[in-house]
Amino acid sequence: MLSSLCEAHTTTAPKIYEYKNQNEWITSGKLGSRDAVLVFRTNILNPKTRKTLSETQSVKTTDSESHKTSDPAATVVNCQDETPLAIAPQSSGSNATLKGSAPRKIYVSVRNPLNCKLIEEPVKQNANKKIHHHDLSSSDTSISSDGDESSQNNENNPRLRQKKMELDLNKESGYSSSMGDEGNSILNRSEEDPEISSEEDNECGTHMPAHKLKITYKFIQTETKLLRKIFNVHGLTEVQGETNFNLLWTGVHMKLDTLRHLSPYQRVNHFPRSYELTRKDRLYKNIERMQHLRGMRHFDIVPQSFILPLEYRDLLIAHNKYRGPWIVKPAASSRGRGIFIVNSPDQIPQDEQVLVSKYIVDPLCIDGHKCDLRVYVLVTSFDPLIVYLYEEGIVRLATVRYDRDADNLWNPCMHLCNYSINKYHSDYIRSSDAQDEDVGHKWTLSALLRHLKLQGCDTHLLMLNIEDLIIKAILACAQTIISACRMFVPSSNNCFELYGFDILIDNALKPWLLEVNLSPSMGVDSPLDTKVKACLIADLLTCVGIPAYSPEMRSHLDSKWTRFRSTSCQRRTDSTDSTASKKSKKKGANSFANLTMEEQRILRNARLQYSRRGGFVRIFPTDDTMQRYGNFLDSSNGIPISTPNVQGQTFQTLVMQHNYNQMLHSNLYCQDPRCTKEDNFQENRVQQYERALETDAEIPFVKKVIVPKCEEEGRKLRKQLLIKISNGSELTQFQARQTFSLYLESVLRRLTQEPKDSHEKIILKFLNKFGGAVKPPVLFRNAQTIKVISKARSAMVAKLLGDFLELYKRDTEAYVDSFDHFGMIPSSSYNEFLIHAQESDLEAVLTLHTNVTGIMPFLYNRCGLSVPPTPPIPCGLHGFLRALPAMVSSSGMPREISKYDGYFKNYDKDCENVQDNSIRSKSTRRF
Ligand code: ADP
Repeated sequence: MLSSLCEAHTTTAPKIYEYKNQNEWITSGKLGSRDAVLVFRTNILNPKTRKTLSETQSVKTTDSESHKTSDPAATVVNCQDETPLAIAPQSSGSNATLKGSAPRKIYVSVRNPLNCKLIEEPVKQNANKKIHHHDLSSSDTSISSDGDESSQNNENNPRLRQKKMELDLNKESGYSSSMGDEGNSILNRSEEDPEISSEEDNECGTHMPAHKLKITYKFIQTETKLLRKIFNVHGLTEVQGETNFNLLWTGVHMKLDTLRHLSPYQRVNHFPRSYELTRKDRLYKNIERMQHLRGMRHFDIVPQSFILPLEYRDLLIAHNKYRGPWIVKPAASSRGRGIFIVNSPDQIPQDEQVLVSKYIVDPLCIDGHKCDLRVYVLVTSFDPLIVYLYEEGIVRLATVRYDRDADNLWNPCMHLCNYSINKYHSDYIRSSDAQDEDVGHKWTLSALLRHLKLQGCDTHLLMLNIEDLIIKAILACAQTIISACRMFVPSSNNCFELYGFDILIDNALKPWLLEVNLSPSMGVDSPLDTKVKACLIADLLTCVGIPAYSPEMRSHLDSKWTRFRSTSCQRRTDSTDSTASKKSKKKGANSFANLTMEEQRILRNARLQYSRRGGFVRIFPTDDTMQRYGNFLDSSNGIPISTPNVQGQTFQTLVMQHNYNQMLHSNLYCQDPRCTKEDNFQENRVQQYERALETDAEIPFVKKVIVPKCEEEGRKLRKQLLIKISNGSELTQFQARQTFSLYLESVLRRLTQEPKDSHEKIILKFLNKFGGAVKPPVLFRNAQTIKVISKARSAMVAKLLGDFLELYKRDTEAYVDSFDHFGMIPSSSYNEFLIHAQESDLEAVLTLHTNVTGIMPFLYNRCGLSVPPTPPIPCGLHGFLRALPAMVSSSGMPREISKYDGYFKNYDKDCENVQDNSIRSKSTRRF
């Protein structure tokens, strides 16, 4: 398949996207050398700059033939060591471009099209054109709201008013149901992501070196259109096979067996046992252990927490001292699912495992709205520890103005900042321009820092405290991950991981770690999101480094590696491996003297990686790392120690004789003035966080066009279907569930657009009964007790229904039929119906089917088990299937259906001949 694509390319005339200068897409070494890796750039995502890029590069190629390589796919395998090429720094990194700074150096980042160079540029007034900061101290730009709901002040604020109008327009165009960046839901993704993959993108990819080198990627349990687009335009090809990939990107933890069999050139996006960091309960326990071991003052980075029901007594003792409120979170969930706030522990149900944390009552607010941060942290190695923080992050604002009053604790749109909740609030504002970084309810980190700086806050200290919090959280969990890597990961470069740290800042500007997300969402819902995440992904891939090896080189390495693995079941350590422990014979390079081969390799990798870091800021190691964190590392092997030493020896002390952390630090920041030192000093790092994200090309964000359904066609197909059903044909369980999920999508859409108290009550009742894992918070479990009617409540109900729908769709995939069954509706005609069906069509089919069969199998996950009988559904549009016949009381017997009851009676005269006796009332049915 791949070779045929290559052939196709050689035989057809070259199109516009001809990247003749292939070296622009390879860095860290010549093609074919062991350090060579692919370069990823965001400007290739924009068709306009793509054109310029290809033209520029064609011209450059003729200018500098010396750079040109022949067909990279034909590169001779070269596994010999190669002295690293002199790499010009590529980062847009440590160079402040804030207004009014001294003559600046701009490092051309990997987002820019040309060769990486250091450019001296005179200062210009407002040099950084990407800074679109507005004086937020003026009321003009502030987000403000009045009391519980914010609409009133929105009206007074021209900027917000305009945004609100845009939002309303979006709603009308059907875009308002676009959903969350944190969402992984099928519904969410399909509606929120830009229209991303096009023929043209794939075509441009076929001219890239990665395509010729047959570099492949594989997704497991993740699907992000943006990621796929970036891979495709850079020429990577998707594979489905088990082991045949260069990059594996999964949304879940790695299988240990997959890890064990990785080749040195393969990359995967997780470390083993990352859940030590990413499960809320594990993270808290790891940090608590460090608090005991190293002292509270060093590790006071998370709100005090308890795991219930085990630690209920401890919670009561703490409550007597502190007296609430407490925030209750399911131990292994995300996106605000199942979170609620209580005033006292007796309001917490004891039946499930939850993490209960001290609620931070005085959060940092922007114009009265609580906010929290999502920052992106890249770990490329745990031993030595190498941690980067991305220069840009996302600030999420709650939609409803913050109020400490205990009566408001129920309100998730005031107390939780998750986008996946707040997006359902009708006052939620999305910025519609990538330049608007401080508009609406999602800002960038740099915009927040500039805003705080203008208000006189010490943003320098804030960012250093955030770095410190990140490093300490990682140190608290590293020991276990290092052990797992030693056991399961064959090569030290195999794994990398991007973590999403959620951080809450209190009003004294102290950051608190809320949680660490495994596989932070790369879904996008706005141009701003697209800009930040596209840059993040491109920089991540370049920094991590996907080896630019030819297939021949890979198979050579594979065979060498298989031989090596057969003699060693564990990853080698330099102390135990004879070849690795040989000291370098080459004394030429100062920094390499007295280093083992393994240490030289680590040092060279760290330097090359740093040179490709793009917008990543390395926060460990830095020049003062050993001063600040040396005490938390084992003095002999440098491993972060989080368990008490037994007679001065830990497991690692016994088996590891190296100290990579110490070695790396002393080589990167050695005192010898002749040594080149890395430039990630405090001052530079903080300036980089404050600077707005630069891109040299706008990244297109195209709203998904919702193709209007053909009403007439839908009605026609519905009629045919209703006749078939009344004549005895049945829907398969898969079809019934598909229909029900499409129907729920319409209910959800209506709920966000025209919330109605009565609908919400029905939905809550439904979720109480059938929600499974999606349970309304305790306060809401009895729909009758809800007195307060507000946009926030509607948002909460919509969020619950959205969560249910996501799980429901996932379960539905298990019911797929591979062939049509006798007596059932053929899948082809049914799919055609689903394409055109409107809400009323779906309702009609579900109603008739239920009334004819006497059951609602789509409500139950009961393959092979009995489904309780259902009373008939009375007619009526928008009735949420007329409240699912009294929520299917399992004891209730199906009552006789009158033809006037049927929905079809009112809407399909043709079906009036459906006879009562066609109703096959059965007490139970099996599926
Ligand atoms: P999830 O993984 O479900 O998003 P988080 O721990 O990130 O859970 O919390 C969700 C939201 O709840 C956060 O956005 C934050 O606003 C709020 N929150 C969480 N913990 C606390 C706390 N201890 N104090 C105050 N607010 C909190």
